Formats: sequence, C-alpha cells, structure tokens
Amino acid sequence: MDKHVIIIGSGLGGLTCGYILAKNGYRVCIMEKNTQIGGCLQTFTRHGIKYETGMHYIGSIEEGQILHRFFHYLSLLPDVKLRPLNTKAYDIVSIAGQRFSFANEKEDFIQTLAQDFPQEVEDIRRYYKVIGDVANDSPLYSFRYKDSLTLLNPLYVKRSASEFLSEITANPLLQQVLAANLPLYAGVPCKTPLYIHALIRDFYHKSTCRIVGGSDAIARSLACSIRSMGGEIHPRAEVSTINCNDVQATSVTLKSGEEISGDYFISNIHPQRTLGLLCTPLIRKSYRERIMGLKNTISSFTVYIQFKKDRVLYFNSNLYHYNTNDVWNCTHYTEADWPKNFMYMHLCSSANQQYADAGIVFAYMDFRDVARWKGTPVGRRGEAYETFKQQKAERLLDELKKQMPDVRDNIERYYTSTPLTYLDYTGTEDGSMYGILRDCTEPMQTVVSQRTKISNLFQVGQNINSHGILGVIIGSIITSGEFVGVNTIMQQIKNSYCNG
Ligand SMILES: Cc1cc2nc3c(=O)[nH]c(=O)nc-3n(C[C@H](O)[C@H](O)[C@H](O)COP(=O)(O)OP(=O)(O)OC[C@H]3O[C@@H](n4cnc5c(N)ncnc54)[C@H](O)[C@@H]3O)c2cc1C
Repeated sequence: MDKHVIIIGSGLGGLTCGYILAKNGYRVCIMEKNTQIGGCLQTFTRHGIKYETGMHYIGSIEEGQILHRFFHYLSLLPDVKLRPLNTKAYDIVSIAGQRFSFANEKEDFIQTLAQDFPQEVEDIRRYYKVIGDVANDSPLYSFRYKDSLTLLNPLYVKRSASEFLSEITANPLLQQVLAANLPLYAGVPCKTPLYIHALIRDFYHKSTCRIVGGSDAIARSLACSIRSMGGEIHPRAEVSTINCNDVQATSVTLKSGEEISGDYFISNIHPQRTLGLLCTPLIRKSYRERIMGLKNTISSFTVYIQFKKDRVLYFNSNLYHYNTNDVWNCTHYTEADWPKNFMYMHLCSSANQQYADAGIVFAYMDFRDVARWKGTPVGRRGEAYETFKQQKAERLLDELKKQMPDVRDNIERYYTSTPLTYLDYTGTEDGSMYGILRDCTEPMQTVVSQRTKISNLFQVGQNINSHGILGVIIGSIITSGEFVGVNTIMQQIKNSYCNG
C-alpha cells in the first residue's frame, strides 16, 4: 500500500492517528511547529523540576477499563507509569465553605456524597445510573461499535448538563457539587451537552491516576513507536499552507519554504487554523463562515509552583474551589472578583513520593484580558505583561492560601502561563483550553466532522468527537477509520487485548 499521509501537528490526536495508520501500513509523516512534540502533552523543566502544561490526570486505566485497552493497543503501558489518586477522594470540591469528595467505585461514590446529602441518596443513585447509561449507550466508549450505530444517543446531545443536574435533584447545593469538576470541560450552563459531563464523570469514576514524571511520556512513547514502524516526525516544521489542485490537496508548504507532497493529509490543529492554511475554492464560503463563527471554550491562567524541599506533603487529590455558589458562572468575572474559582493539584514526580516538589493552580481567564499583547514575541512581551502576570499570580496564590494554608510560605519560586502562552505553544484559537464549545441548542452546527470539503484532507484532535485523553483517542479512531475502517481498528484493539 505505502500511501503517504502527512499529519499537521503532533498533539495526542496527530500522534495517535500516526500510530494507527503506521500500524496499518501507511507511510506517516508528522509535521510539528514546536521544538517539543505533544501539544497539550508538553512539559517544561525549570531548576530541575518538570511541569505539565495540559494533561494532568487520567481515568478508566485499570485492567479491563477502556483507557487501559487503548493504552495497550497503542503500546503505551510499558512507558507510561501511573500513580492512583486517593480512591476515597480523587476530587475534592470546595463550595460555600464546605468540602465534598468524589470517590471511585459506585457504592463509595454514592455513600461518600450521601454523608453530606443524606436526604438525597436516591438522587445520587439516579445520577450515577444516568452517567453510566450515557457511557454504555455510546458505542465507541463501550466497545459495541457497528458501522450502522450513531456515535451518541441524540437525547444526551440535545440536553444540557446544567438542565439535567437541575432535574436530577431538587437540592441546589448538590446540583452545584455534582457540576463542580466542570473546569475539566469548561462547561457553560444551558449549552454544554449532557454527554460531555457524563462521559468525563464516568471516565474518572472508574479509576483515577496521575502520570508519574509527566504526560510527555505519552507523546514520547507514541513517537518512538511511530518511528519504529517507519514513520517520520519533524519538529520545528510549521505548516504555512495546504496546497490544492482543482480536486484535492496535493502538498503542504512549511514556513521554511520546503514543499512536501502527500496522498492524504490530516490536520491536528484547530479547525479555524486549518482553514487559515487553505486558500482554495474547494472550501465553500458557507463552510468557512460556519467554522469561523464557532465559539471556543475559555482559556486559563496558571501558576506553576516549585515548593521548598520536603515541606509540603504530597496531596493525592485534586481540589476544585469556588468563591461563589454558582459554579456554572465562573467564566463571567470582573477585574475585582477574579478568580471566582480555581483548580489545584500536585505534580507527581515519583510513584511513592511523600512530599511534593511542585504543584499547579489554575483559574479561568478570558483571552480579552491579554489581547493587547497578542503578536508580541514569546519571552519579550514587555514590562506591562510581566506586571500583569505577577499581579494575577499573587491574587491566585492569596486565594489558594485560604484553602491550602501550608502552600504560600513554602514556595521556592513560581512561573506563570496565560491564554497567550497556549495560543503560541499549541496554536488553539484564543488559547482556548478545549477547543470549540459544544452547544446542545445547536448540536449539528457545533460538531466538527473528521471529514472536510476536500476529499483527501481530514481532521483529528480535541475538536473532533471530544477533548481529553479519551475523547481525543476515540476521535483518532474515528479519523483513522476513514482509512482503515473503525470496525477494523476496534477489532484490532479487542484482539490485541485478548492476546496481550
Ligand atoms: C490546561 C489544560 C489541562 C488539561 N487537563 C487534562 C487532564 O487532566 N486530562 C485530560 O484527559 N485532558 C486534559 N486536557 C485536555 C487535553 O490535554 C487535550 O484535549 C489534548 O491533549 C488535545 O490534543 P490535540 O490532539 O487536540 O492536540 P493539541 O494538544 O492541540 O496539539 C496540536 C499540535 O499542533 C501543533 N501545530 C499547531 N499549528 C501547527 C502548524 N501550522 N504546523 C505544525 N504544527 C502545528 C501545535 O504546536 C501542537 O503541538 C487539558 C488541557 C488543558 C489546556
């Protein structure tokens, strides 16, 4: 066969597609604009401490669970070491001065929340059931895929998560608590579909882990496998145009001027950016306008903290804190009330560490806050930008201190990132965390297909199917399925698991 597939971007989606296609006999060549591959799997190291920038924790990774099967197929298990989070409280939610825990496993989850909401046990039980039903009804999440099945039950696509939660229980505090890990998908009330909330909750219910030493291990492992199957990965190779003839794409041109021809092309970059690479009548105006008009999820401001040695005990949970009683409303803030919420976690440098070397705390931030520095060069954006970052970091750390009093006095140093950082490092529009915002009131318009109007150009990544490690891997199966067949890939995954 030996068809040549050019993949633009080496994020999780580009690498996973590269792996699947190389395994199935395609000649794969991945072009990455950055020095480091991986997109949101990138890490950076300062003063000997490694920091994750995107992926922080994963779920459903115990033997037999869905991510374990995918990791097995992708040959990731030997290279990616994991440390389970506290099974009794993998996420801790702090709202209205109270704390609540999410535990793994059905009965533990229900009984843990029932301690705080004894009158609502049946509501919690019903909630758990619906969450499981959404995952079970989704053919690719439950290994029941057949060509004819739709990928998601329309009931879960057209219903909003916020509406669902307000119906599942009459207790307003429980509604808020159940919604509280929404920074994992930057949920918007009345818009974010139920399936996004449910699939993510189900994913972490089953088991929850941090990646020892950082999520770049996933990118390195996939890259190593792709190369061992004859594929190529080129860092520092930014694609500036996708060239087309009258009927299809023919080549890409790099920023360096080099032109590379291919039989097929897969874009792992934001769909709005993909359109920016295309100047061809093959893309109709109506398609261009629809995609360019889509809204993106909000971005974030992050403080990466190095702790003084052996001073801060390793915290084996994630903390979601809210200064407000309305968890859905944190994307709308003023200068005075920012941050309305934050997420805090420790980074895992070894499988059994007692003390944390580093942690991160992040809060939503709209791109408009940093828009005035757009286009300035990385590392040289000017004094006003540095002052802005420092003021925001101090504000966020002050809020963190109220929840985690031991942290503030034990900081050795810290670094920050803003929406501009994400814009420059991963190339997502407006530095958006999870790409295009899915909207249950416009389900068809806000879903981006793996196919484009150009027959040999496809898309992959967090804007196809869904974001996060599971959403992107499943999206990669859908995109690679255009070449190999989704059923074939699912069968390969099943076979490799049975034989492994
Ligand atoms: C702050 C944050 C926290 C997160 N936490 C978690 C988590 O805990 N668990 C989880 O499962 N998920 C998490 N996610 C989501 C997850 O990391 C992403 O959904 C996923 O990694 C995105 O993968 P992708 O394939 O879309 O590619 P991306 O990561 O978007 O990568 C795209 C790649 O394309 C490259 N590129 C862009 N333009 C060009 C060009 N012109 N030429 C060549 N290359 C180009 C970029 O440099 C980049 O490497 C988090 C994301 C963020 C931002």
